[in-house]
Amino acid sequence: MDLQEFRAGLDGWLDEHGPELVPPHGPGVTLDAEMEHLSKVKRLTYEAGWMRWGWPERVGGLGGSTLMRAYLGEALASRDLIEPGIYSMTEVLAPTMIEFARPALAAEMVPRLLRGDETWCQGFSEPSTGSNLGSLACRARPDGDDWVVSGQKVWTSLAQYADRCVLLTRTGSPESGHRGITALFVDMDSPGITVRPIQAMHGRDEFCEVFFDEVRVPGDRTLGEVDGGWAVAMDLLPYERSTSLWHRGAFLRQRLEHLLASPPGEALDPADLGEAAQLAFAFHARSRATQYRMAGGERLGPETSVDKVLLATTEQAVYDLVADAAAADVALGDDPDGARWRTEFLYSRAATIYGGSAEIQRNIIARRLLDLGVDR
Ligand SMILES: Cc1cc2nc3c(=O)[nH]c(=O)nc-3n(C[C@H](O)[C@H](O)[C@H](O)COP(=O)(O)OP(=O)(O)OC[C@H]3O[C@@H](n4cnc5c(N)ncnc54)[C@H](O)[C@@H]3O)c2cc1C
Repeated sequence: MDLQEFRAGLDGWLDEHGPELVPPHGPGVTLDAEMEHLSKVKRLTYEAGWMRWGWPERVGGLGGSTLMRAYLGEALASRDLIEPGIYSMTEVLAPTMIEFARPALAAEMVPRLLRGDETWCQGFSEPSTGSNLGSLACRARPDGDDWVVSGQKVWTSLAQYADRCVLLTRTGSPESGHRGITALFVDMDSPGITVRPIQAMHGRDEFCEVFFDEVRVPGDRTLGEVDGGWAVAMDLLPYERSTSLWHRGAFLRQRLEHLLASPPGEALDPADLGEAAQLAFAFHARSRATQYRMAGGERLGPETSVDKVLLATTEQAVYDLVADAAAADVALGDDPDGARWRTEFLYSRAATIYGGSAEIQRNIIARRLLDLGVDR
């Protein structure tokens, strides 16, 4: 199937099945309900084949261009059928499994994620290690054929729902920096793991603290080389800044259109509206080029930091527009529209933090793309 056929087929299928996929919205909707809805969307799109296109056949996919995956998330987000933050975890974690897991492990696990049978999480950040990932401390020591993991992660999105975790651990000496890190694929029901959700200001407690107390992980769950976990992290982060951002961009355009169709509160400021719209289009153009480079087999790298800066700037501009026009609704409104704008406005503040903060993206752009300054 080529991309055009895929798009036409999927659009027709969504015209027919879209009503079954409408998510729960409104002030009382819990994250549990959103996660249940997401599993349903993934299951139905998998069973109809759409979710399988763009993924390799060796992991249960149907082959074809990665642009199909980009379009599936775009089509679902444009129709307001998914929340891209939770939907796009697949785009962040599955490519890493395909690249770095034993082929049999990837073949067994990836279809479960695509089909919505399982949720996975990404255990990178620690209480004293976010931007400076190379200094992480969560320790894995070898014991026979296993690893034994002790330490803590934080801000682990969806850990309370996760069946597995892509976990970065320290296997070298504390001073080994990025050379002494090993990535593991951990079952979240292993004895010794404690997950504590963190209360978030926007009311969706999506991330957690995760504690590891002598957790045994089989050696064949190592992703990539022992002490080679930095390569896994560097491979994963550009994915976090490519197709998943494309999906988020489609969601933001849809919200901007909704804003224009039924503006809340006072009239929108035309200059701010123009700014938000041109940022959305600049991101769209940039991210489109990234999707095509990925589809052409190019390896993504530090240049995806430009996409991340543009997306975060767009997201905050769109929600600043709402907050300025409808301050009372965003702060206090109880109607479903106002409550949704409030939740999204508050979450938009995180756009310059998750997936690497805006300052870190600018450091990457300056040092690795523009050759300015030096890493200290
Ligand atoms: C919604 C959300 C979801 C997340 N989900 C996950 C997840 O699933 N898994 C996971 O592992 N992590 C996750 N994170 C964590 C995220 O990756 C980190 O918050 C981020 O990398 C920043 O790290 P930090 O919070 O430790 O801040 P710090 O690194 O302590 O940074 C604090 C401030 O200092 C600035 N700063 C730090 N170093 C420099 C420097 N060298 N130059 C200039 N400025 C600098 C930063 O930009 C920031 O403004 C999530 C975060 C959010 C907000």
